[in-house]
Amino acid sequence: MTEELAIRDAYLRQCSAVVGAGPPGGVVLDRTVFYARGGGQPGDTGFLEWEGGRAAVADTVRVESEVVHLLAPGAAPPVGTTVRAALDWERRHLLMRTHTALHVLSALVWREYGAKVTGGNMEPGLARMDFELEAMSVEFGREIEERLNAVLSAPHPVRVLFLPRAAALADPDLIRTKVNLIPAHIDPIRVVDIEGLDRQADGGTHVADTTEVGRVRVVKTESKGKGNKRMRLALDAAPA
Ligand SMILES: [Zn+2]
Repeated sequence: MTEELAIRDAYLRQCSAVVGAGPPGGVVLDRTVFYARGGGQPGDTGFLEWEGGRAAVADTVRVESEVVHLLAPGAAPPVGTTVRAALDWERRHLLMRTHTALHVLSALVWREYGAKVTGGNMEPGLARMDFELEAMSVEFGREIEERLNAVLSAPHPVRVLFLPRAAALADPDLIRTKVNLIPAHIDPIRVVDIEGLDRQADGGTHVADTTEVGRVRVVKTESKGKGNKRMRLALDAAPA
């Protein structure tokens, strides 16, 4: 099974690793800094480099319990090769900022309007989130944008915790975000805690503090039917 380094340290940009047996077109490593697509967060891209070769990683996915690095057409490192696995860090960091922004948005809409999230998705610097709301006006979007930026710009550390399953199932914030739906064999449960704002079971990669997200714009609000309203976000350039 692949040792997933990003689970504990989202800021690792590269690692050395040994190639194991993988599916055609994909490389499985004994350890990796790459995040496999899941929980609404896209898989990482980057490259593998070894003595005499280099291959671009076009996407990273999970196949059963393995992290599979899907290669662009071309050379692939043979099993047993030691490689350097390096992320497209600019893209990944943008995804970390985007993911943290979405968690803060969901917490804010819940706290201020009592509306739950019904779905969401993200790309680097762009995201959408759906809420259980009857109406969502342009004014509402502006109000949220203002509040979201006010909250993000104040320091809130983002921590990754590993909670025993029993403790996670008893935590009110985690109950609200349906921690009970996580398969029973998963223990401890990984929790992303944005201090004073949001706490949810999550497998994704996040920035270390909300001030690292920068400014977020609500670019569109739309109705996806009764009781389901969508908000689209775009991130400005990273703060200096
Ligand atoms: Zn998340």
